[in-house]
Amino acid sequence: MCAFEEGNAVRKMEALWSYQEAEIAKSTVENEIRSTPARLQLAKLHKQLKSQQAVITKLSEEIESYEQQLVKLTDQVSKLEERLQMESSELVTIKQDDESTAEEMTELKGDIEKLNREVSQGVREAKALLGEIEKASEEYQTTARSASKAKKEYDALRVQCEEEKEARQPELDRHDQNLASLSKTVDPVLLERYNQVKQHHAVPIAKIVNSKCGGCNMSLPMVMLKKIATTDGIVECENCGRILYHTND
Ligand SMILES: [Zn+2]
Repeated sequence: MCAFEEGNAVRKMEALWSYQEAEIAKSTVENEIRSTPARLQLAKLHKQLKSQQAVITKLSEEIESYEQQLVKLTDQVSKLEERLQMESSELVTIKQDDESTAEEMTELKGDIEKLNREVSQGVREAKALLGEIEKASEEYQTTARSASKAKKEYDALRVQCEEEKEARQPELDRHDQNLASLSKTVDPVLLERYNQVKQHHAVPIAKIVNSKCGGCNMSLPMVMLKKIATTDGIVECENCGRILYHTND
């Protein structure tokens, strides 16, 4: 490679390096916008609202299922009560009937006792279900109140975040303009490769510092250092894949 080509290669990498610096400057602004106290609180509230919504959904499903069970149970109990009433009045009839046997009477009394126990059991279960419904409803309301408060705060913060973003938009626009003009100075092949490496590394170019890759700190073999010094193409770190940049400073 002649001195002219070498100078050309250095200039190409310098232009790409400047482009990267401009990208870093822009992403610094973007990160600042993303990490203002309002933004962080917004993210926290978003997470909170999501989990509260999940609790609300779960509770309303639970309440619905309890209510269905209660309807079924109430129906069963009222049928049992109907039978109880029937058998009780039959007992009255049998008692007045001289022809009925003691055996019939005992059997009927046994049935009535059993029905009584079943009704009591049903009533106990219904009370327990009502207790569960009440408990779930209270939790539902507490969660819903807290969620609605959080939602109001969230909406206000969102407006604030939008305002913050808008206030810094001119700054971002300047960075974009700067990047657009810098991109015209960068070799298109280099820029394409740069953008590919950027998919894996936020900062795709690494300077060589003391014969090491400035990105991953791996020592670079002599043969590679020589290659970097003599090529006008791209040399990537074998370890991390970043584009290596050799500078004399
Ligand atoms: Zn590396």
